[in-house]
Amino acid sequence: FRNHDSHFKLLLLCTTVTVSGGGLLAYGDAVAASEAASVTEKKKVVVLGTGWAGTSFLKNLNNPKYDVHVVSPRNYFTFTPLLPSVTCGTVEARSIVEPIRNIFTKKKGDIQFSEAECLKIDAANRKVYCRTNISENENEFVVDYDYLIIAVGANVNTFNTPGVVENCHFLKEVEDAQKIRRTVIDCFERASLPGLSEEERKRVLHFAIVGGGPTGVEFAASLHDFVTEDLVKLYPGIKDLVKITLLEAGDHILSMFDKRITAFAEDKFRRDGIDVKTGSMVVKVSEKEISTKSLKNGGEIATIPYGMAVWSTGIGTRPFVKDFMTQIGQINRRAVATDEWLRVEGTDNVYALGDCATINQRKVMEDISAIFKKADTDNSGTLTVKEFQAALKDICERYPQVGLYLKSNQMRNIADLLKESKGDIQKESIELNIEELKTLLSKVDSQMKFLPATAQVASQQGTYLAKCFNRMEDCEKNPEGPLRYRGEGRHRFKPFRYRHLGQFAPLGGEQTAAQLPGDWVSIGHSSQWLWYSVYASKQVSWRTRALVVTDWTRRFIFGRDSSQI
Ligand code: FAD
Repeated sequence: FRNHDSHFKLLLLCTTVTVSGGGLLAYGDAVAASEAASVTEKKKVVVLGTGWAGTSFLKNLNNPKYDVHVVSPRNYFTFTPLLPSVTCGTVEARSIVEPIRNIFTKKKGDIQFSEAECLKIDAANRKVYCRTNISENENEFVVDYDYLIIAVGANVNTFNTPGVVENCHFLKEVEDAQKIRRTVIDCFERASLPGLSEEERKRVLHFAIVGGGPTGVEFAASLHDFVTEDLVKLYPGIKDLVKITLLEAGDHILSMFDKRITAFAEDKFRRDGIDVKTGSMVVKVSEKEISTKSLKNGGEIATIPYGMAVWSTGIGTRPFVKDFMTQIGQINRRAVATDEWLRVEGTDNVYALGDCATINQRKVMEDISAIFKKADTDNSGTLTVKEFQAALKDICERYPQVGLYLKSNQMRNIADLLKESKGDIQKESIELNIEELKTLLSKVDSQMKFLPATAQVASQQGTYLAKCFNRMEDCEKNPEGPLRYRGEGRHRFKPFRYRHLGQFAPLGGEQTAAQLPGDWVSIGHSSQWLWYSVYASKQVSWRTRALVVTDWTRRFIFGRDSSQI
């Protein structure tokens, strides 16, 4: 606000000069000047993206003193956790989207929306370059900002596997889900045409899903439900030819979940007839075949004929975000590194949140080592197992991902690494050197992101940042308070702290696995009801809540719709 003050003083000075030089200023001019002053007083906040992070920021921003400009290629918010339900017609696409302007109408301040995509950020001159596809004349425009919020999510990561972009479906946007729904029905109609060999029918009805993470698993489960509950009745002649295969490069599916959930899911899929191929890395996708390399059997290459393939293997960086990262010296990273106040490292007025950002892991490591040091009460440079466990508990509370991974495949590494160097960590007698611990944690640092790329994180970050923006001026004017929000040192606010509320993995057949805080795992029909209630309550508006609940009810009564529209 220092810049703003000087700007304001300059404006007052200009006004005074006009008054003394040009005689009396008319009342209307004075009002206009004061309005102009109040207009220039507003800081320009540009928000890129209307996904979880951007929408949660906009919903919680209550300070009318900002001039907000939102730029996004989509004029709606998508409730992504229900996208797999759209692929099979359990829920309609329109039920999970909310027009972004509906959200603006409930806000006090000035919010402008442009349906366009950001092409480039010029951090030095505080400008974003945008392009729209809907204008008949000028397609490109530039927007200035005082503060920039980057909340553009992530791309699909194909790991440069040949043929993926050309031949696979993705599941990121509503359009993707609608396209998958149409293709599933197309495959059934194609397989019902006369003149096809049995082999060809089998190929067309083979649905391959690449990636055993939550999205791939949920889609496989939804597709299995759709086929067994609805399509087999409509296509009785070809029902026995349908096959669903889930390909996963790792040793297990749902590896970020508790081991009990992983085991249950694998077992349930086996019973349902979904072919789970773990240790299978897809190396090439052609029009009709997927080539896989076995990571278990000495790199054996296999080809799998398929009718429809869905690629769901993780997330990558959007090209313009990569360009921005290069400008500010963040090279070779997957996501924009921010500090714990969500400010992009190396800038003072750009914030990044959601899937496109990550809290700088160097800072996290410093934080973790500070926790270890604090646990070392006698300053001996070593920790007893009890102290280590207390410190680890602290770390897991602060960085829930560490806790989650500890119980899952990836983070077994930490436990394994500890065991390798120190033996069984459960034994009382073992002492652990803090420096060693830091090294061990930094070894897994490269393999994990300390916060998961989820809607939960994105939405909490949006809310946090909006609250900071709401109080920025107050905190600036009253350096002593409000203490509740204030941070220490140069920081005006307390750092962002993620609260993990648990995660779900729907497994089909009205069964869901839930992993809730406090090590609570629940799998089965009761968790499915919990899933229904949580996802109904998390809807961004009463309109979408009503539509989603109506869709679920319709599905219970009439089944899913199998028409191609
Ligand atoms: P997004 O929500 O992806 O929003 C990005 C926004 O940026 C969009 O509005 C997009 O149009 C816009 N944008 C893109 N490019 C540009 C550009 N160049 N310029 C301007 N704007 C741009 N998470 C959970 O916690 N629970 C779940 O159950 C869950 N299920 C999921 C199921 C599926 C199928 C998928 C795909 C994701 C799921 N996730 C879930 C993950 C969750 O959706 C993401 O973590 C979350 O969307 C990230 O929010 P975001 O705001 O960073 O990005």
